[in-house]
This record gives sequence, structure tokens and C-alpha cells, in this order.
Amino acid sequence: MLTEKPDIARLRREIERVTRQIISLTGRRFRLAKKIAEAKKRENLPVEEREVERNLREIVSRECGQNGVRLDFGLRLLNLLIEEAKRIEKEEIAEHGGEKTLQITPYTFFAKAKELERTGKSLIHLEIGEPDFGPPESVKRRTAQALDSGYARYTETAGIRELRAKIAEKVNQDFHTDISPKQVIVTIGGRYALYLCTATTLLPGDEVIILEPAWPAYGDCVKSLGCKAVRISATLENEWAPDLDLLNQSINESTRMIIMNYPNNPTGKILERKVMKEITETAKEHNLHLVSDEVYSNFFYTPFESVLKFPEGKCTYINSFSKTFGMTGFRIGYAIADRGTVEKMTKLQNLCLTSPPEFVQHAALAALDCVKERMEYARIIEGRLEFTYNALSKLPLSFHKPDGGFYVFPRIEVAGLDGLEFANKLLTQKGVCVTPGVAFGTEYTKFFRVSVCQPQKSLQEAANKMGELLR
Ligand code: PLP
Repeated sequence: MLTEKPDIARLRREIERVTRQIISLTGRRFRLAKKIAEAKKRENLPVEEREVERNLREIVSRECGQNGVRLDFGLRLLNLLIEEAKRIEKEEIAEHGGEKTLQITPYTFFAKAKELERTGKSLIHLEIGEPDFGPPESVKRRTAQALDSGYARYTETAGIRELRAKIAEKVNQDFHTDISPKQVIVTIGGRYALYLCTATTLLPGDEVIILEPAWPAYGDCVKSLGCKAVRISATLENEWAPDLDLLNQSINESTRMIIMNYPNNPTGKILERKVMKEITETAKEHNLHLVSDEVYSNFFYTPFESVLKFPEGKCTYINSFSKTFGMTGFRIGYAIADRGTVEKMTKLQNLCLTSPPEFVQHAALAALDCVKERMEYARIIEGRLEFTYNALSKLPLSFHKPDGGFYVFPRIEVAGLDGLEFANKLLTQKGVCVTPGVAFGTEYTKFFRVSVCQPQKSLQEAANKMGELLR
């Protein structure tokens, strides 16, 4: 039978023509977004409108079906277009007299404070979650010994065997699980575990649900991967419990992941068992990857249950030596996940940095034996939280008593004063540095975060100075 040879050159010209059309239509779409931004600016409407996005998703789903385009690809493409249009809208609004939405993170105020200190000003630092107690003595000793013994080389990418085994053993003891060392990867802090997990799981245009208020790195990480962050904002009125109905309503065909952090930074919230269970079941039901960042799990003052106790669907557990053992500068943490996820994370870690430093891994081995110190650190922080809670209760502030973690997240009950202005005044006029609430979600403009990683005397002095500004 005679088969017609495809005319590749002709087909390629056709592809070029279609590609040009796609780019030309994309340009037209963005020009329309700019016009919408002008109208929104005039009428003071928000950039983000979930109903409009939902409608577009329905249109794209139908078109995908009719045109033989895979639905997940079509929806990812749509999200890329939506996110770029939002960026254009925000830029347009900011350029034409709108509020410049300068991104605030805990490091913004840390940098400001450092700048002031260079001019000779002495400050109280309550902006960063960095324990003042530093690492246990045995960890310092083991670090020095490790260097003396020549442990200054590359190691297995996922971490040395003894450390992975010891982490698995500790976790299995604590949570009655059956984690194998192959399910553990040692990383450069909890922060890098987050990056490895998201970067190996997500594709551009995917959606990630973030339970807010939250550490800003989640949203930044998701956005840097070309994905869309869908934020579920909890409220003080609801004692910071996430709205599970909203969580369910926010899941669609593009949702791939949920990121949560309990004990929570910044609120100190710990979820009730049944809420935790429901979230893990929801994730499983929709085949979502659940990321549970538990770096504050050493600091709990009401019962806390790890996500590892709910062996539901695909899950990555993140922890770190930074907060638990006062080892922020050692830059060491770990993740626990299924073997497939750990293998993917290991490949990326190999590509980016070969392995965590060998002597630091030996320091981490020593830290895991520091049971007494670990409990002592938790006790110190609990005392400081209690003290700060009592001191701040006398001021015009509302807040939920933290269940864990090492932060207090109060709302300012003074008309016309928001968290950013308060934090700026507190720093420049009173020499106390805190983090404004907007760093943890756009809803939290009236809040600020206090880290209790300083001695009681400093916390008292800071509370007095806050009082002078608030009364
Ligand atoms: N996760 C949360 C919720 C944090 O607040 C922080 C640091 O502040 C980290 C992770 C990062 O910790 P690490 O020092 O282990 O990278």
C-alpha cells in the first residue's frame, strides 16, 4: 500500500505559524489584563478574584476536551497565564499611584535592625526565630572532634548511613512507625528539605494549598517554581484553626500539594487530632502530596501529634536541628518520605551540593543523644512564652495563647495603627525589633510576631516599650 510521506518542512512551517499565533494571542491577553488593572484601580477592586479564575478553568476544561489537549497540561498553561496576568495587574496598580506592595519577610526587619546596629544603636531582637541558647556542649565537642578526625569530606548524598539510621530509629521510637533509613534524607536545614520536596514534586502551573498564616518561604518557594500558591487564611477568631470547608473547596484538578506547619510559625497553633486526621484524609482522597513542616515539634505545650502518626497518602515530613537544638548556623535538617520521593530529592541534592558537610552530620549524630538538653530548651521557651503572654496581655492586643512553637502573634487593637507601622516605630523609636504580620499573609496587616528567643529581662523590657507606643 502506498503511504503518503509527511511533508515535514510544510508541517514545521505550520507549527511556526501556530506558535506565532500563540505568542500574538498571549500578548493580546496581557494587554487586556493591563486594561482590567486600570479599571480595577479606578474602582478599587482586588487583583485576585477566585470566581473569575474558576470560570476560566471551566472554559479551558471544555476546550481541552474538544481539542484533544490533556486536561492537566491545559490547566497548567492557564495557571501560568493567570499568574503572569496577576503580576502585570499588580505592577500596573503599583505604578499608577497604588500602594507599592513591598514584600516583607522576617529577614526584612532583621536586615533593618543590623543596619541600625552598625550606627551604634543597641537593640532587642525579637524578629528572628533563632534560639539564644546555642548548641549543647556535647555537640560543640563532637564538631571539634569530627574535624580533628578528618571528617571534612563529601559523604553519601542523602547523608551518612549512621545519621539516617539514627533519625529513623528516633522517629520510630517517638511515633511507633516503621520508617526505614532509606526514607530519610539529611538536608541543609529544613528550608532545603522544603525546596527539594517541592522542586521534585511540582511542575510549573501546578497549584499548592498553603495553610496560613505561614512562614513566607512556602509561598516564595512555590512561586519560584512557577506554581500557584492558594492560600487558606485562618483567623484569630477561629483560634487559628484552618477552615476545612474552604480547603476542600479550593482543591481542583491542578492541585498537587498541601503545605502545613504545626506547631505553627507565627501563631503557635497546634491542630486537634481530628483536624489533623481530616487533613491527611483529604490529601489522600485527592491524591495530593502533603508536606508537614514540624521544625517546632520540640516545643509543644498542648498534645501534639506528628503527621507521621497518620499514615495516609503521599507525605513529606520535614524537621531540623536548628530550633530543637539551637543549631541554626549548622544548617542541618532532614525529610522523611516514601522511597521514591527521597530518591528524587537525593538526585536534586546531588546536583546542587553533592552532600551535607560531613562534620556537621557528626554534630547532628551527637545532638540526637541530647535528650536532657532538648527538654531543657523546651522548658526555657515555655517559661518565656508564658511570661510574654502575661506581659502582652496587659496591652491593647488580642491573641491566642500559643499551644507550642516559640512565637506570640498579637493583633493590635489601636485604631489606625497597623503591624508594619508599629514594627517600624518600635524599631526606630524604641530599639525593639519584631516582624510585621503581613510577612505571614496579606490578611494579617494588624498583627506582628514576637519571637521569645531572648532572656526574660529583654522580653520584659520589650513589652514595656511596646506599651509606651500602644497606650
Ligand atoms: N520551617 C519553619 C516553619 C521555619 O520557621 C523555619 C525557620 O524559621 C524553617 C523551617 C527553617 O529552618 P532551618 O534552619 O532548618 O532551615
